[in-house]
Amino acid sequence: MFPIFKTKIAGLKKKFDLNNPQERKKYFQLKAGKEIKKLRDYFKKGNSFVVYLLGKKNSGKGTYSKMFTEVIDPERIEHFSIGDMIRGIDKELKDKKKRQELIEFLEKNYRGWRRIQELVTLLERRSTTAPLLPTELILALVKREIQKRKKKTLFIDGFPRDLDQINFTLFFRDLIGYRDDPDIFVLIDVPEKVIDERMKYRRVCPTCQTSRNFKLLPTSKIEYNSKKKEFYLLCDNPQCKGGRLVPKEGDEKGIKPIKERLKKDEKLIDQANSLYGIPKVYLRNSVPKSKAREYLDDYEITPEYYYEFDAKKKKVRVQEKPWIVLDDEGKKSYSLLPPPVVVSLIKQITKVLNL
Ligand SMILES: [Zn+2]
Repeated sequence: MFPIFKTKIAGLKKKFDLNNPQERKKYFQLKAGKEIKKLRDYFKKGNSFVVYLLGKKNSGKGTYSKMFTEVIDPERIEHFSIGDMIRGIDKELKDKKKRQELIEFLEKNYRGWRRIQELVTLLERRSTTAPLLPTELILALVKREIQKRKKKTLFIDGFPRDLDQINFTLFFRDLIGYRDDPDIFVLIDVPEKVIDERMKYRRVCPTCQTSRNFKLLPTSKIEYNSKKKEFYLLCDNPQCKGGRLVPKEGDEKGIKPIKERLKKDEKLIDQANSLYGIPKVYLRNSVPKSKAREYLDDYEITPEYYYEFDAKKKKVRVQEKPWIVLDDEGKKSYSLLPPPVVVSLIKQITKVLNL
């Protein structure tokens, strides 16, 4: 398990509502203002770096890197997901002109053991059956995307994805023209129980795809069906006509169907962690309950929401209490909200870059 990062500032009484964007801004200034300034100056001077995000499925890779970007500099940093890239290519292949351009690019830039036509077929099939694409192909495609993005700092999500790909990261920045840029492994540790509950209680709006959590991240509108004695989340996205959020098919099983995948992800994180020559940042989602008071402020902990129906006023009351989960060692723990994890990300990256 990774070291616990202390975000508590002794003697500080101020509380923040971390779900509120304005308060979140103030929170970051207070807890990491010095480091935020250093990083912004670093980017203003034209510097950049590459981050490889390594964490289990649903560990919050996207959430953390997007929040880091929002806090530091949205113009100069980008979250780059291999999965999104492949989905984008799927669309390109359906367009005759773009398809031809892609084939020409691969003819120039791909070095590997497959014929180009074979690669195109693999890319097309991927959307339904998802076999692993050859690493040499991924590298060529990533190179193409990076050329489009000039010299931005990248948080790469989804590469390395397999044990043999770890070795490639060692040469990656040379391959893509990041020759002098530092690169960093960001390793994320999230208890499987947290991933499990995130899946089991996930609710999605069928209209706008807004994704929330019945227990951990409700919408602002909740409805009660007195016949079924059930509570429902209603979509509160202003761009959406609204409606009930529903579970995604298969989610009720939690992590059970993805156990193998999680095991593989864990192995990958271990491998990355044992690698010399590349700096590492450790992010930890949970803190044992017994250590929380020393390391965290109360408002940095993820609460659990539950609901009561006031029959007289015909209104749903939303209540909250601390959410206690068992970590992978079986210790009673609290799960952190994203902002304190991002504070530790900001501070560790500043240190790794010697700013
Ligand atoms: Zn909606």
